[in-house]
Amino acid sequence: MKNGDQLKYFISALMKDVREVDNSCVLARCVRCGDEMTIFSESLECACSTCGRYSLIDAVATMLHVDRQRAELLLRKLNLVKSMSPFLKIAEKLSISDASNQKIEYLIDNLLPCKSLTLLTAHYGSGKSLFALHVAKKLIENNHTVVYIDNDNPHVVVSERLELFKLNSKLKHQLFYIMHVTKDSKEYQELHNELMKTDHHCIIIFDTLTDFAINYDLNNDFDASKVMKTFKELRNKHTVIILHHKPKDLSQKFKNSTRIVDSVDVAYEVFLDKFTKTFHLNAFKTRIQVKENHVIPLDID
Ligand SMILES: [Zn+2]
Repeated sequence: MKNGDQLKYFISALMKDVREVDNSCVLARCVRCGDEMTIFSESLECACSTCGRYSLIDAVATMLHVDRQRAELLLRKLNLVKSMSPFLKIAEKLSISDASNQKIEYLIDNLLPCKSLTLLTAHYGSGKSLFALHVAKKLIENNHTVVYIDNDNPHVVVSERLELFKLNSKLKHQLFYIMHVTKDSKEYQELHNELMKTDHHCIIIFDTLTDFAINYDLNNDFDASKVMKTFKELRNKHTVIILHHKPKDLSQKFKNSTRIVDSVDVAYEVFLDKFTKTFHLNAFKTRIQVKENHVIPLDID
């Protein structure tokens, strides 16, 4: 549709007594005084002998009782605005284009959303590292890449567990198991920078938060925010899982500054029932929709 046709079509729907003169202009009733006016399809201006000239944007804003910006956006959608205001130009450039079809993508159905920040909390020795490895194994089976940053478990325990989950053969191509690399170390900075540059989506597991952020006081909001910022950066490109110890006080679900839970998308309490060999997950924060309770068999021989 040409500019002139589009314009005619649009103003016929809105204005009274619309008549086409030629391709360059259309006659209609002035939206301000009701006299006859001319609308020029080239400049998109209205010209009334009583009110003078005003822009089609102003006419639409008056007719639809909306502000100028909304009118401009509407006309923009109909391709009836030539130059946009600087505000709309920058806002349009920065805005997402479509939010109607943004389905949540899960790496594990209803449990682990893609490009999310997930917190797993548990008591000492109640299976959160085992659960994290279980997750790693599932993801690796689905051809994902996992980066496991372990500052908690001793070498012998790690090698035993990798054996248990049959993950040894995946090392250095699908599973990058990195030990003793804390937040402020040169090694971590290097890794972080590369992760921020790559287009290769990874699942990054931090075991545990406290051990990774060894130089930070996680009871302090400022320190906690600083640490969480690191994870939030990664979450823009990757899926991040943080393991965290539960406090000894059973009434509290998590330790430390509330900034930690505030920053994550999903938080679960994890518990391994050693008798039935099942993991039990209870979500206590779900900014992204997940199933609240999970019972998952520990999948080893
Ligand atoms: Zn007028």
